Amino acid sequence: MLVIDNYVFKLNKTTTTTKYYRCEHRECDVTVHTDINNVLLKTEGNHCHVIEPEKNKIRIFKQVLKERVINESTPIPKIYGEELAKMMLTLATIAILPSQREMSM
Ligand SMILES: [Zn+2]
Repeated sequence: MLVIDNYVFKLNKTTTTTKYYRCEHRECDVTVHTDINNVLLKTEGNHCHVIEPEKNKIRIFKQVLKERVINESTPIPKIYGEELAKMMLTLATIAILPSQREMSM
């Protein structure tokens, strides 16, 4: 899973040198190529939908939790607490910070 500008991409295919991601939105055909270290190589297409950063954050949170639970021996409540703290921080930042447009007024 990959997040670029709040758009969420799913891993579609992996080769020895390149990972191919696809926008997770069903009707969207944006594809992203990265190298094996997730360094962005190429983006193709335009998103046909708008992003919902807050909704995405919660889904990403769940995804990160799932992955950490699988990959780490850290107790689940500890992982949950850590990730929740991180997420609350980013959500609070989104809510509090004025948008760029407001700043220039
Ligand atoms: Zn898209």
